[in-house]
Amino acid sequence: MKCPKCKTENENRSVCKNCGLFLYRPDRRNAPKLSDKELRQRDWRTVWRVTRKILKYVGIIITAFVLSFWFFYLAWFFFFQ
Ligand SMILES: [Zn+2]
Repeated sequence: MKCPKCKTENENRSVCKNCGLFLYRPDRRNAPKLSDKELRQRDWRTVWRVTRKILKYVGIIITAFVLSFWFFYLAWFFFFQ
C-alpha cells in the first residue's frame, strides 16, 4: 500500500521503507481508527451486550419458575380444597 505520509509504494510491508511510518495491513486498513475513549466505549458495549443476553436467560428461567409455581399453586387450590 501507499504510505499516507510520503506516498512511497510499499508492497506488503507494515512499516514504510522510506519514512518508517507504521502502515496498517491491507485487510485492516478500512477499519476505523479508534481512540482510547472509543475503545473503552466499545468494550462497555460488548460487556453490556453480554450482560443483556445473560439477563434475558435469567429472566426466562425466573418467569418459567414463577409460572410453574403459580400453576402448581392454582392446581392445588382448585383440586385439594
Ligand atoms: Zn512513508
